[in-house]
Amino acid sequence: SVPLAFFSGIGAGSKKGILFKGGVAIEALQGVKAIVMDKTGTITEGNFVVQDIVPAAGVDREELLKLAGSCELTSTHPIGNSIVTAAGEKGIELKRPAAVKEISGKGIKAELPEGTVLCGNKKLLENYQIDLAECEDTTYGTEVLLALNGRYAGRIVIADTIKADAKQAVASLKRLGILTAMLTGDAQKSAESVGKETGIDEVHAKLLPQNKVEELQKIRSEHGSVMFVGDGINDAPVLAGADVGAAMGSGADAAIEAADVVFMTSSMEAIPQSLKIARTTGVIAK
Ligand code: ADP
Ligand code: MG
Repeated sequence: SVPLAFFSGIGAGSKKGILFKGGVAIEALQGVKAIVMDKTGTITEGNFVVQDIVPAAGVDREELLKLAGSCELTSTHPIGNSIVTAAGEKGIELKRPAAVKEISGKGIKAELPEGTVLCGNKKLLENYQIDLAECEDTTYGTEVLLALNGRYAGRIVIADTIKADAKQAVASLKRLGILTAMLTGDAQKSAESVGKETGIDEVHAKLLPQNKVEELQKIRSEHGSVMFVGDGINDAPVLAGADVGAAMGSGADAAIEAADVVFMTSSMEAIPQSLKIARTTGVIAK
């Protein structure tokens, strides 16, 4: 049963599109000292759009997009969807790979008629000892690198947008005395630019799902009780490892089920609001 005093908090939350899974969730939220967030879909909109296609010497642009699109045909990752969409807009016919393996936090390895294709981040290509000398460093966006039969084939630059209220929400959290941190599997540069634009205290990039759990434990040991906010796409372990797990609106069903708090809208302002409601409810409860 839910102690009577918590009903006010649950009611106040529901008016703002915040679902607290009972009084226990509100109580846990009262003690939170740090908020750790996933980047994609939490701080950014998660609406990826292909910005640029940069083939390696001797590779055709359309051919590069076709290789990437074929790899991503069965992927549910927003990055993959943006590539498939871009190929579709150019009228490129995509082939279903004979074999496809999605490597969480890294990308895809697929067998296509053209050969073995790697499609993902730098970490993925480095794992397969691809020579990246020809791949220059860029300073913007998320990049998907490609290799065909062991050779670097080019890169596709993808842009996402930071949520309009992200900066304001981070500032509100700071005023509440909360440490803010971002964990992402994305590249360092792309993560740093989001960190800079939003004012988030700590930025941790290039993390695999298991590294996110380790990083969260480190933050907890330094600062105290931690709330993790994510969309649930490959962050189930870190969501479960936090003192308070929160799922963002458009998140995966499994995440919404496992979460202590659910933000029904995708607005970031709901995060400081949930803390304010929990803290006020705490006063009433005592
Ligand atoms: P985030 O931590 O931002 O939620 P993910 O853990 O989902 O990101 O993915 C981390 C990184 O792995 C992405 O930024 C991308 O570089 C790479 N990646 C993951 N899935 C794919 C995919 N289907 N195609 C290409 N790259 C991918
Ligand atoms: Mg994610």
